This record gives sequence, structure tokens and C-alpha cells, in this order.
Amino acid sequence: MPVHACFTTYIYDEPLLPSGTGRFNADLHEECLRLRDFDAAGRRWSTQNYPGGYTSYASMNRLHGFSSTFATLERRLTRHVRAYAKSLDMDLRGRSIAMTDCWVNIMPPTAAHSMHLHPLSFISGTYYVATPEGCPGLKFEDPRLSSLMAAPPKLATARSTNRTHITCPARAGHVLLFESWLRHEVAQNRADAERISISFNYAWS
Ligand code: FE
Repeated sequence: MPVHACFTTYIYDEPLLPSGTGRFNADLHEECLRLRDFDAAGRRWSTQNYPGGYTSYASMNRLHGFSSTFATLERRLTRHVRAYAKSLDMDLRGRSIAMTDCWVNIMPPTAAHSMHLHPLSFISGTYYVATPEGCPGLKFEDPRLSSLMAAPPKLATARSTNRTHITCPARAGHVLLFESWLRHEVAQNRADAERISISFNYAWS
């Protein structure tokens, strides 16, 4: 068919480890809950800015420098970020990449996280710690949406590559990576348990 894909947006979704994530994930889970208990400033900030939930985004956002468990997570994530950057044909020869921020998000039932992007970084992502049955995935928006004002609606059967929004399921033990300019959100958690994730940004120099 004489139709070519151009300016493609790629999203990366892989298990953190080929196998045996269970014990490590359980350690992370425990640390996320302990962090919420410990981080009074984060709980206060979340009351104002993350209604119904807890995030350490504005209080403890360099967790890879704070805890050896998160430092191990950083090491494991960096392998995935390198693989993703390679698949994007980014030229990182003679350049280094580094995790700049890493923070915890806990979304109890009814919590939501509205549409946003991650400034000051080039690759961002989320590692999923606890994803109760029925919890929301990560919803991405076509970055060209504002240029589509005269486009007709898409068919309900449109392929994922032609949709204006797509949702990647949140799966415990999995890493989702995307380019930091790609807007995304988490719909209201309608599961009856907490959805826990760890978000992070990478920069290059
Ligand atoms: Fe985000």
C-alpha cells in the first residue's frame, strides 16, 4: 500500500526483569508505603495538589539517591532507557544519560492524575508496583491533537496507530517508557485497592 508511517510516536512496555521480579517488587512496595508514612511534607503537598492520593514528586524526588532499593531500580531501568533510546535512533555515542528524578505515586480508590508532560527531560517513564484488578492504565494523547481541528472523527475500530488517545495497561513489574513531551494521564482509580507506581525522568549530557 502506498502509505508510509512518518513521525511515529513509540511507547516502550517491558517487564523490568525477564523473571523473578516478585521479591524485588515486594521490597519496593514496602518502601513506597513506608515513604508515605515518613514523608509529612509530601502528604501535605499531596493534599493540595494530588487530591485523594500521595506523591513524593515535590518532596522526595531523588529516591535513587536515598535508598539502595531505588538505586537498584535505577540501574535496572537505565538498561531499558538505553534500549528505548536505541530504538528511537538517538545518537548517544560519547554522551551520557542519567536519571534526574524518581518519585512514588500512590492512588487509592477515586484518585486521578490529570493530563501532563514531563519538562526538562528527554525520556520519562513509570514502573508499576501494585496494579489491582480494574485499575486504570496510562492514557496517552496524540501530540498533534491541536492540529487536527478539521479532521473527521475516527472509526470506533481505528487501529491503535491512528487513534488520538491510547491507553497502555498498568501491569505490576512492568516498565513503560515514553518521550517526555508526550502528554499522558491516569483516569480515576475505580479498583477497590491502591494503585502504586514509581515515575522517573532521564536527561542526557
Ligand atoms: Fe507523568
